[in-house]
Amino acid sequence: MPTLARSLIRQFDPKCGGRLGLKLTMEKNPQSLNPSQVKELLAKTLSSWVAERDRLNELDRALGDGDHGSTIWRGAQAAIDSLETGSFSSVNQVFGTVGRAMMTSMGGASGMLFGLFFRSAEKVPASEVLDLGTLNALFDRGLEDLQGRTKAQPGDKTMFDALVPALTSLRESRGDLISALDQAASAAMQGAEKSAELIPKFGRAKTLGERAKGTPDPGAISVALFFTGLAANAKSLSLQS
Ligand SMILES: [Mg+2]
Repeated sequence: MPTLARSLIRQFDPKCGGRLGLKLTMEKNPQSLNPSQVKELLAKTLSSWVAERDRLNELDRALGDGDHGSTIWRGAQAAIDSLETGSFSSVNQVFGTVGRAMMTSMGGASGMLFGLFFRSAEKVPASEVLDLGTLNALFDRGLEDLQGRTKAQPGDKTMFDALVPALTSLRESRGDLISALDQAASAAMQGAEKSAELIPKFGRAKTLGERAKGTPDPGAISVALFFTGLAANAKSLSLQS
């Protein structure tokens, strides 16, 4: 929305209704975010993720070596630090910065996978706004690059059990950015929860076979928590603007 329109809307009393009330509603459901809003959105989302360290470690103790929460904590914290010191002219750079920080700080398979997913944003033509179309382009490129690095598919009890449903939901969404993110977060959480019934095909958990049933994949829960944070923070960001 042009700056003039934005400042005009701010001056109007929302109670006056009619056309102006409608404009105000649109303002609260932005279709796009600029790079500094995306920076704020991601920093807040990463902070929510950081707060889940103990829960993710506990899940990973049942299936792996119990460090998934600490690994995510390290990567998200490094990404928050990189965002704070960076200045960004495209939304791609914001996501790319998160990816590079995660990749260099987390280590292991999850550092490579989560880092690559975000870093791939820099391979998509640069955009000064993040709208639903841009977000789909960035995340679809991320997924494509991940699929080039691992043979894991949905159903294998990995992060893909949350990521693929979330991105499918985003791609099929025709609503505004906020409701699209809300639906993607629900799809991710449903997928992550369903991963509890699956038998792992990758990583340390693979050796557990049937015994892994009953516990969801920590990587899938992690992805779901990321999308949940993204949706919640996009909503609160839009209420501030
Ligand atoms: Mg581990």
